[in-house]
Amino acid sequence: MTAPTAPPTAEPEATEEPVVHILWINAGLSCDGDSVALTAATQPSIEDIVLGALPGLPKVAVHWPLIDFECGPMQGADTFIEWFFKAERGELEPFVLVVEGSIPNESIKLDGYWCGFGNNPETGQPMTTSEWLDRLAPKATALLAAGTCATYGGIHAMAGNPTGAMGVADYLGWDWKSKAGLPIVNVPGCPVHPDNLAETITYLLYQVAGQAPMIPLDEMLRPTWLFGQTVHEGCDRAGYYEQGQFTTEYGSPKCLVKIGCWGPVVKCNVPKRGWINGVGGCPNVGGICIACTMPGFPDKFMPFMDEPPGAKVSSGASSLYGKAIRRLRKITLDTVDKEPRWRQKGRALLTGYEP
Ligand code: SF4
Ligand code: SF4
Ligand code: SF4
Repeated sequence: MTAPTAPPTAEPEATEEPVVHILWINAGLSCDGDSVALTAATQPSIEDIVLGALPGLPKVAVHWPLIDFECGPMQGADTFIEWFFKAERGELEPFVLVVEGSIPNESIKLDGYWCGFGNNPETGQPMTTSEWLDRLAPKATALLAAGTCATYGGIHAMAGNPTGAMGVADYLGWDWKSKAGLPIVNVPGCPVHPDNLAETITYLLYQVAGQAPMIPLDEMLRPTWLFGQTVHEGCDRAGYYEQGQFTTEYGSPKCLVKIGCWGPVVKCNVPKRGWINGVGGCPNVGGICIACTMPGFPDKFMPFMDEPPGAKVSSGASSLYGKAIRRLRKITLDTVDKEPRWRQKGRALLTGYEP
């Protein structure tokens, strides 16, 4: 008996859906904290992005050391690193390059290398992270620096460090533009806020797919909608600051500025957004803001836990003003904390109602 043949169809052949690749290099001078942070994102989650749960998002293939099944540092058919060589050969189009960790200055060392990612097949030696940047940046449609190390150098770029570490924009140039005309996109934080990173990746994917306008960035290349406000402006404790109520020890609900909080001059939305699922946010839960998102971090904010120099003046003024305001508010508070006098039993209507 012969098998029945399928009826002829007028349907056009399905065209293959374009894929946007995300190539993630976590091999700057890095602790992988930003990769770990992204696993906690919920708005959206990395699963939402990768599994196509967001309407209109292009199909995505993520090549990320933290979760990739493939492994191996050498070039070859089934190795993780092969995706990066494919991108270099122009075989992945389009791709978003994510860099985590600061970029050391390889030209100042006497021998060896500061950091690398996979091996260079020509030499059998590790391919330095800066060489990967040189090779891949011209081919990338977008380039995202994740975390304060990759954006501005961070902890590895402190005064006295031997590596000459710097951020991606310091390395490639602050005016660098991708072949599609996008500047470097910086999402700082140590670690980066999970949802800030997930949201920015999502924005870039929409933009690469032609569904979003140019990403709005400030002069330090941060997304403006995420870094336009200070910690202080979103802090749960701002009311205490305004009333001149400052704690000098931990465990108090009052403002933390006298024990080292830099929130008034730090651009970060963490207190507003919370850390995970809207919960937490450094000063909200009792931790001083050490300014981990800022380009001047950490050097310009040390020693941590000392009162910031400018805070003496502002908290002094706030203490004077706050004392007077608290007295006046106490009078009003005592009044509004009582019910109106006509709410009582009896035969008389005392509300002022006139028929
Ligand atoms: Fe680690 Fe912080 Fe650097 Fe990210 S920014 S790699 S969390 S040290
Ligand atoms: Fe501002 Fe920090 Fe005080 Fe919060 S704890 S009100 S951010 S100074
Ligand atoms: Fe960093 Fe301060 Fe933001 Fe906390 S509140 S994440 S310490 S910048």
